[in-house]
Amino acid sequence: MSDVREVIIIGSGPAGLTAAIYTARANLSPLVLEGEPSSTSDQPGGQLMLTTDVENYPGFPDGVLGPELMQNFRSQALRFGAEIQTVKASKVDFSSRPYGVWVGDPDTPEPTHRASTVIISTGAQSLMLGLDREAELIGHGLSTCATCDGFFFRDQEIAVIGGGDSALEEAQFLSRFASKVTIVHRRDELRGSKIMRDRAFENPKIEFRWNSVVDSYEADTSITGLRLSDTKTGEKSLLPVTGVFIAIGHRPNTDLFKGQLELKENGYLVTKADSTRTDVDGVFACGDVQDDYYRQAITAAGSGCMAAIEAERWLENNPL
Ligand code: NAP
Repeated sequence: MSDVREVIIIGSGPAGLTAAIYTARANLSPLVLEGEPSSTSDQPGGQLMLTTDVENYPGFPDGVLGPELMQNFRSQALRFGAEIQTVKASKVDFSSRPYGVWVGDPDTPEPTHRASTVIISTGAQSLMLGLDREAELIGHGLSTCATCDGFFFRDQEIAVIGGGDSALEEAQFLSRFASKVTIVHRRDELRGSKIMRDRAFENPKIEFRWNSVVDSYEADTSITGLRLSDTKTGEKSLLPVTGVFIAIGHRPNTDLFKGQLELKENGYLVTKADSTRTDVDGVFACGDVQDDYYRQAITAAGSGCMAAIEAERWLENNPL
């Protein structure tokens, strides 16, 4: 079993690369399958690759560009001997140790790699509207994270798209900075919980555009407005805003693990309390793939560190 790796890390956002730094420094020679650029919302490095300025990552008092931060994570992992392959895992088999990980054709009988432990950090994606120029406008007036980007919109008029708890929470948070927040919802009834609805209705800075869908973004180099259609009357309008926050939900990247690991009803991986352990011994999950609450780069990195330390200790007690 000389070709069995101690650790394979699937995914290369802040969680996966932090796990790589820690396991590499623990002499576990991790192999990182960092993914392949397959669409604008799915690429090695994760969601920070889609952002511009990151001002809330500790250690960067003047802020840092998202892609630059991820390049730093990657260089640091390489420096300590992590092996990084720009490929996607296509199948896993966690039914017995060593665990199998496939790259390429998932019907090949033998796995491409085998490992004593696997750390999963495949992340999640923010659902997007799928409109023209969406990818290029992220970080230029368009955002999927109020906690990350709200600060940039002080005294500006902005819009939040969606009618669930996320949209209501984002709008509430953004109202601390913005002069006005318009929630654009495709129906005339909110999906969000009563307490969040009431808070939004009571907030003098929050307005609603009911039965409204976004047809397109108005933008030069940055957003200047939203072209809307009323779903009942067909009426078209222009909503002048300099910021747009999409809050129509997230999708964890867990398709690969269905039937192998326990998933929550919303598709996120289940990890044990205060731990990154999944329901399979020796398989750990960190970052947004198991976090539907904080969703921050710093919390992802923190849980990547936890996964590395847990994997290392587990390997010590469970050698193959
Ligand atoms: P969600 O509950 O699925 O709501 C998504 C919203 O986006 C819905 O209002 C939906 O409209 C709208 N939407 C979906 N696709 C759209 C599209 N293509 N165009 C326009 N609008 C679209 O998602 P979420 O708000 O992210 O919440 C996910 C879960 O996390 C929920 O269980 C929620 O309660 C929970 N959560 C809780 C809190 C909290 O308690 N503090 C905060 C955030 C989230 P329709 O209503 O018409 O379907």
